[in-house]
Amino acid sequence: MTFSYYNPTAIEFGAGKISEITKYIPKKSNVLFVYGGGSIKKNGIYQQVVEALKNFNFFEFYGVEPNPSVETMNKALSIVKEEEIDYILAVGGGSVIDGCKYLAAAALYDGDAWDFLDGKKQVEKALPIGVVLTLPATGSESNSLSVVSKKSTNDKRLFASDFIHPKFAVLDPSVMSTLDDRQLKNGLVDAFVHTCEQYLTIPNNSLVHDGYSETILRGLTTLMNTWENKDDSDWRDNLMLLANQALNGFIGCGVVQDWATHFIGHEITAYYGLDHARSLAVVQPHLLRVMFEDKKDKLEQMGKNVFAITDANKVIDKIESLYNNLGVSTKLSDYEVDDKVIENITESLKKHQMLKLGENQDITIEKVKEILQKSLA
Ligand code: NAP
Ligand code: FE
Repeated sequence: MTFSYYNPTAIEFGAGKISEITKYIPKKSNVLFVYGGGSIKKNGIYQQVVEALKNFNFFEFYGVEPNPSVETMNKALSIVKEEEIDYILAVGGGSVIDGCKYLAAAALYDGDAWDFLDGKKQVEKALPIGVVLTLPATGSESNSLSVVSKKSTNDKRLFASDFIHPKFAVLDPSVMSTLDDRQLKNGLVDAFVHTCEQYLTIPNNSLVHDGYSETILRGLTTLMNTWENKDDSDWRDNLMLLANQALNGFIGCGVVQDWATHFIGHEITAYYGLDHARSLAVVQPHLLRVMFEDKKDKLEQMGKNVFAITDANKVIDKIESLYNNLGVSTKLSDYEVDDKVIENITESLKKHQMLKLGENQDITIEKVKEILQKSLA
C-alpha cells in the first residue's frame, strides 16, 4: 500500500465552539461570511457568528442554494473582488461549503472557474476557508472536494484540490436541533454511502482501513435503528462525528475506491432535482446487485462485521431496508422522472466522458442502464 495523507483542517467539536473561530482567522482579514437560505437565522447560529466576528471587517453573502450553482457563486465572486475579500467563512451544510470552495479557487483565477469542474485546469491557489457546519452529511467541512452545478446546462460536477481544504471546521452538534427529518435522514444515507464507496471494493487488505470503515458503518446503522433518539445529544454527537469521519480522506487513502453511485447520482440530481442522498439511495442497492460478482467477497465481510449476517445477497437487502425503514426510497419510480430518464442520465455520463465507472472501470453505460432499469421497476 502507498499513500500521501494530508488533512490540515483543525476541528472544533462541541457545543459553544462557534466563538472559537476568531482563533483561526487572521485579525486584519476582510471576511466574506457566506450562508444559505436563512436557516441559520432561526437557530441562533447567525447571531453567534456575528458576535464572534465583531472585531473583524466582514461582509455577508447569502442565498447559496442546495446543490450550489456557479450562477449563484459568481455573484459572490463579484463581492470578493470588489471588497478585496481575503478570507471566506462558510456557514452551512455541504452546499454552502462546496460553493465556498469554488469561490475560494475562483477568486484567485483569471479565467472562468468552471474550468476546474470541467477538468480543464487544476487549482493552483485559493483563498483560505473556514467552516461552521450546520448539517452533518457530506464531510466537506474537512475534505478537499467540491461539487458544483451549472443550472443552464444541467451539469453537476466535482473538483478536488488541497488548496480548498478548510483551515478549520466548527462541529457543534447542537446546531442540528432545527434540522428537519428529511435532511437528517439524508445525512445518515450520504455518510453511509461515502463509507461504502471506499470500503466495498476489492482488493482492500488494510486491516486499519477496513476496521475503521466497519466501525463507521456499524455506528450509522445503530443511529438509523435508534431514530427515535434523534433529539438526544449523544445521538447528535455521534452523527456529527461519523459523517465527518466517513469522508475526511482517511478511509480512502491508499485503497481502491468506487464512487460510481455518486457519479450516477450527480447526474440524477442535475436533471431531476432529487436531494443528493436520495439520488444515492435509488442507485446504490441496484448497483450492488448488478456488480455482485465484483463485490461479493467484500459484501460477505460487511455482512459478518457490520450486520452479523452471512449471506452476501442479504447484505444488499439489509442496506436497502435500512434506507426504506427511514422512509428513504430506493426506487427511482417513486420520484417524478420522465420516460427519458435512462437516456438523459446515460447521455450526461457520456458527455462527461464517464463511460467506465467503478473500482474496476467495468460499470459501462450498458450496466448503468441496467441499474436504472432495476431502480425504475
Ligand atoms: P445542503 O444542501 O447543504 O442543505 C440542505 C438544506 O438543509 C438547506 O435547505 C439548508 O437550509 C438546510 N439546513 C442546513 N443546516 C440546517 C440546520 N441546522 N437547520 C435547519 N436547516 C438546515 O445539504 P448537504 O446534504 O449538507 O449538502 C449536499 C450537497 O453537498 C450536494 O450538492 C452534494 O452533492 C454535496 N456533497 C459534497 C461532498 C463533498 O465532499 N464536498 C460529499 C457529498 C455530497 P439553508 O440553506 O437555509 O441553510
Ligand atoms: Fe455524497
